Amino acid sequence: MANIPWLADVLRAAGVSVVEHGDWRNRYRPGSFSPIGVLWHHTAATSSASNPHPALNVCINGRSDLAGPLCQALVDYNGVFHVISAGRCNHAGTARASGPIPAGDGNTMLIGWEIDYNGVNQEMTAAQYNASLKATAAVLKQLGRDSSYARGHRETSTTGKIDPSFIDLNVMRADVARLMNPTPGWTSTVDNTTAGRFTASTNWGSSAYSGQRFGENYRFAEPVAASDAAWYKFAIPETGNYRVEAWWPADPGYNSSAPYVIVTSSGNQSVNVDQRATGGQWRVLGTFNLTAGDANKVGVSRWTNGTGLVIADAVRISRV
Ligand SMILES: [Zn+2]
Repeated sequence: MANIPWLADVLRAAGVSVVEHGDWRNRYRPGSFSPIGVLWHHTAATSSASNPHPALNVCINGRSDLAGPLCQALVDYNGVFHVISAGRCNHAGTARASGPIPAGDGNTMLIGWEIDYNGVNQEMTAAQYNASLKATAAVLKQLGRDSSYARGHRETSTTGKIDPSFIDLNVMRADVARLMNPTPGWTSTVDNTTAGRFTASTNWGSSAYSGQRFGENYRFAEPVAASDAAWYKFAIPETGNYRVEAWWPADPGYNSSAPYVIVTSSGNQSVNVDQRATGGQWRVLGTFNLTAGDANKVGVSRWTNGTGLVIADAVRISRV
């Protein structure tokens, strides 16, 4: 049993409007529940602005032929998530394999959204679609699964279900993927001359001596056993893994073990590089988990046992 008492909080944190119904954390069917994915349905009831959730009562209480609850949440005409259950529900029946979801007990494997529209001559509203995307992305993140674990009932049904109608489920999954990783190609470069993004004390001199420099010049300082780092500030769009690269001009007089300090989500990590070699190119310092926010993320420290001038030129961070 792996119930989901976090459901309402996770939805709210994703910007979804939530109404919690009764003692939903303790309302569920007996039997196993170990969700790995999310299943979309439509209710076949006709909703409207004046009657936004016609199937809510039956989803909570069930029907004469099927005991409730019938889904973990019902999505009303306005895109409000009505949270009904934190455990197993009668929504999926026996599942056939679909994408990464194996064949088996659908009610064990899947969290169900009953989206309240009739699906024959009424389409899902934009509010329902957008809220369902956000909710699906947030729940899959919570489960540690990617967008391929979002399915439609018509993909898993063994009895010819057609729901959810009027939705291209591949487009739905692509939309969920975009929400889960909104900036797959994000990259940002900060040079020592980038306005507002580089800070160093006046102990750091400025030079354009090496033709391997990035941009017009770079900064340099003697090693010292003191904290006097040059800092690079980045606006990290979301917490996640990023590749950090550095560019320096190389020279025999530059530092043999220059410390780059990366401010990761679990503390500072240092990577030492030999600035006597491999200059004039991007060099990978590693992949690190960085916290969202606009802050100093990479520093070049003067505190090293290496000899020669420590160089601070450019740093690049890319989402991976
Ligand atoms: Zn269904």
